[in-house]
This record gives sequence, structure tokens and C-alpha cells, in this order.
Amino acid sequence: MIFGKKKKSTDNKSSAGTEIEVPNLEIKASGVNKDEAVGLLIACRQLPGYPLAILLVTNAINTRADRILIDFSAQGAVARYRVDGIWESLPAMDRATADALLVVWKKILGLNPAERKARQDGKFATNFRDIDWVISFMSTGVPSGERVLFTIERKKPVLKTLTDLGMRDAVQETLKGMLNGDKGMVVISAPATHGLPTTWRIALENADKFVRDWVLIENKKNQEPDIINVTEYFYEDGGDSAEQVFDKVRLKQPDVYVLPSLIGPQIVEAVLGQIHKEHKHMVTRIVASDAVDALIQILKGNPKHAKALLGVAQGVLNQRLIRRLCESCKQAYQPTPQLLQKLGLPAGRVPKLYKPTIPPPPEQRVDAKGNPIEIEICKKCNGRGYFGRMALFELLVVDDNMRKAFAQLIEKPDELRKFVKQAGHSGFFEEGVLACALGQTSLEELQRILQGK
Ligand SMILES: [Zn+2]
Repeated sequence: MIFGKKKKSTDNKSSAGTEIEVPNLEIKASGVNKDEAVGLLIACRQLPGYPLAILLVTNAINTRADRILIDFSAQGAVARYRVDGIWESLPAMDRATADALLVVWKKILGLNPAERKARQDGKFATNFRDIDWVISFMSTGVPSGERVLFTIERKKPVLKTLTDLGMRDAVQETLKGMLNGDKGMVVISAPATHGLPTTWRIALENADKFVRDWVLIENKKNQEPDIINVTEYFYEDGGDSAEQVFDKVRLKQPDVYVLPSLIGPQIVEAVLGQIHKEHKHMVTRIVASDAVDALIQILKGNPKHAKALLGVAQGVLNQRLIRRLCESCKQAYQPTPQLLQKLGLPAGRVPKLYKPTIPPPPEQRVDAKGNPIEIEICKKCNGRGYFGRMALFELLVVDDNMRKAFAQLIEKPDELRKFVKQAGHSGFFEEGVLACALGQTSLEELQRILQGK
């Protein structure tokens, strides 16, 4: 079967022949004229690469992949799906097959199929399995050949609350208290590819915006989807500068400044002035490996105002995405007292932990005589053992003791982390163990995440 998945296509027609059933995928390419698009699609349906081109995308959606990467080399091409953050290779394709598939996508998206070096970008909207999707396409020449990336996103975000993200109630309360406070700075952070834009949006949307005015100032070129009840102002090259925009915004007397980046020393100084004199509040974000790293980066990135920024810092949130165990096939086991002790869990409190069910690879599914044996593969997770992801959160509360420690140990991050731990801060390990104790994830997965894999 193409792309190795046993799954049947979306309809139930049984096909006696060898024809591959290609699901119907409606494609609305952006930047392509409507009439032209219809003609292109009809023409593309006749091309040999059409069935595979469509299956590449529909199978990706069926397996919940959010990225498709294809690497073309002189010999052939390898496509990979990213499911819950893990890359899975599909069976290798020969070059002719892969080229035929790529021609189809470039044509449908109004790009030039003959161009294999310069970067080309396309985008299309589709509805598949009753869900609206927005799919971006990018192709570019690389030293080994050509690389193609599809990014698959739902048009409407599914995650809406901090609970959806997996945040514990106690952490939610503390975070909301920080966001709804005044005279301070709250930092939201995560390592790259760990869902920072989503948490940023949801945290801001769940803060109290009914009695306070929230404004966001950002470079126009970094514009992201709107955040409900946050008024957005943009600066841009050739237009109003960040300082000009800030001056205008200040006149409106907002309560909270939302700065996806700290922009520059002038803005930092102006916002700090507003925090001190008028009890305004600030929320910013940064890509960082943990909460300590996030605050260090902010202080070091703004040396002139480091002391003042540390003075107003109230809290730093950081998160890492972790796979959830598949509820249909996870297996319980009894942890030994030694293991519980190692995890810092009191004896008797956690009777069970869980692990994933991972079937052996196909070549090992044989009996002693080498005859194939049928192993039932979980229909929900397709043998991955995991289904979907949640975030582990660490929320660093920055009090006077913490400020002192950051001021003294900023050049010694490891000592700083030790101090933070001794101060009773719950980090990714402690949060992860809690998630394991609740049966949400496994110790193996926690270990993978803690190692930054
Ligand atoms: Zn399963």
C-alpha cells in the first residue's frame, strides 16, 4: 500500500482491482485565479503523479501529521510526516514517482514545476473530514537536491483554554494572578517548536480583559492571528516607527502593554516608565529552554535596563510539549518502591504508572518458525502508543529572593537553577512526574522531553 498505512481511504467502496482510491480533495489555492484554478485542477487530474500527490496530503491529515517534508536527491526521494512532534519516514520513492508528485503540487499552486532551485511558496485552503485546513507549501533547492515542506494547520484553533493545554488548576490560578496584576512584567516562553504561539494566544485570551485595556505593539511583518480583546498596533519599515506607534498608543492610556518582542531600548525605557509612574503592566515572550533561561536572555538582551527589568519581573512561564499516552492501549504497571522514591512520590500514593503499547516492527512479527503472526494494532494510535500532546508547564514566581539570586548568579545559570530548585520551584521533572502519576504520559516520554529530544 502506498505510504505504508493499512488504513483504507475515506469512503467504503471496496475496490477489487489494484486502482488506488484517491479521496476527493477540494483545493483553493491562494494567488491563483478561480477560473484558472478549475482548469489547472482538471489538467492535473490527468497527470500520472496526481493520485500520489493527493494521498500524500490526505494520509498526512488522517495520521494527524502537521508537517510533510520531502527530500529529493539524485537517486530518489524520502517523505516524512511529523506526528505529535516525531518525524516518521514513509517508504522511499524513486525519483520519477516523486518528481511526478511534485509537478502536480507546483502546478495546482500556480508555481513553476521546472524551477528546482529558487524558493517557491504556495498556500491552499481545503475542507477534509469536515474540518477546514490551511496548507502551506514551500520548495527550495538544497545542496543534496530539493526540499519540500508542507505545513498543515486547522483554520480554526481547537485549543481554547489553559486546561486544553494541560495546565494544572493551581498553575492556572497563579498565572492568571500574574497576568491580571499591575506594575510588573510577565514572561511567556518555550523552546523552539514547543508551541509558544499557541500558549501565548491562549494565556492572553484567558486573562481578564473586560475591565482593563490591553494593547499589543508589534512589527507588521510578524503579524499573527488576532488575540480576542487585545487591540493591536503595528509599526513597519517605511511607515510609523515603533516609537511613533508607542507614543500614539500611550495617549489611549492602556493598562497592559503586550510586546511579543521587547523591540528596543527606547521602547523598553518608555514602558518601564509607564510601569513605575502609572502602574501599567507588561507581558512579553521569548524562545528559551526554561524559565531561568528566559529571564537571563531578557536581562542580557537589554543590558541598559537589566536592573529595572529584573525589578519589575513577576513571573516567567515556560513549557515543553509532551506526548499523551493513547487511552485505548496504555498499559498499567506497579512501580517499585525504589522507583517511586527516585521520582519523589510518596509510597502508596501512586499504585499505578502507565507505559505505551508499541507493537514489534513487522519483520519481528513472526513465530519461532518464521511464520508471520497477526498482532493487533491499536486502531486509535496506529501502534504509536501515544495520541496527541499536552504541555508541561513551569511557572517561576519572581519574588525579592529570586531577584537577588538572578542579580548575583546571572553568569552562573547552573547555580541559579540549583537555587531555584532549592527554593521549592516545580520544574519540568516535578511537573512531568505528576503527569505520569495521573496516567497522562509515560516515564520514557518524560525522559525524552527532559533530554530535549
Ligand atoms: Zn493506542
